[in-house]
Amino acid sequence: MTKRVLLKISWEALQWERDNGIDPQFLRDLAASIKEIQDQGVELAIVLWGGNIFRWLAASANGMDRTAADYMGMIATIMNGVAFKDALSVAGVDTRLMSALHLPEVAEYYVTPKAVHHLKQKRVVICVAGSGSPFFTTDSAAVLRALEMQCDMCIKATKVDGVYDSDPKTNPGAQMIQSANYDEVLTKNIRVMDHTAITLAKEGNMPLKVVNLYKKGAMMRAINGEREGTVIS
Ligand code: UDP
Repeated sequence: MTKRVLLKISWEALQWERDNGIDPQFLRDLAASIKEIQDQGVELAIVLWGGNIFRWLAASANGMDRTAADYMGMIATIMNGVAFKDALSVAGVDTRLMSALHLPEVAEYYVTPKAVHHLKQKRVVICVAGSGSPFFTTDSAAVLRALEMQCDMCIKATKVDGVYDSDPKTNPGAQMIQSANYDEVLTKNIRVMDHTAITLAKEGNMPLKVVNLYKKGAMMRAINGEREGTVIS
């Protein structure tokens, strides 16, 4: 059966030398991995990060009204989306950019049935501008889109192999958690996604998987239900 997957690529996954701007080589490499997944017949929707631009803008957002700052964050994801759509098109992947904010010259407005239509036509759908509302994160938007499009799972791609019980950078004995349930994540404050995202996933029964973006074949193994990374269900 065709799998429909929502892939959230997180800002923390970007292993860039500098922590802002858009790295064309990274986008080309990412586009090549997306093409490999799509070639396996997976229906793929992607929610993109905003942090690279947003963190860079943070100084200007300092002291700003939260709503205004969050709109800047959402617009940052649109910029990443324009760049990534271009990289996917160059890689030969039929792609649609769909935004939760109206920007008709740049992206289609996100409407679930239209997005699902694109997925069925084997187009990759990049969802940008988060949920379109301030006070949310792109992780929450990813779970929301996964539920709306009735995806089989929501995968968060990061730069580590999964979720650890403590910070592996400071604790060499940190253990990777292979699976956990939503309540454990919430009560033990396990850092997977923010609580809004986890609660949404719990209520919609959406499996969450955390995998390493840079580990060869990891995303495909997670999609196929093989043991990979951390599974929250
Ligand atoms: N944001 C928002 N509503 C959303 C999604 C994102 O207001 O539905 C804003 C928020 O300010 C957030 C920023 O956009 O901090 C960038 O998203 P986030 O930090 O979640 O993305 P990351 O780069 O960490 O993956």
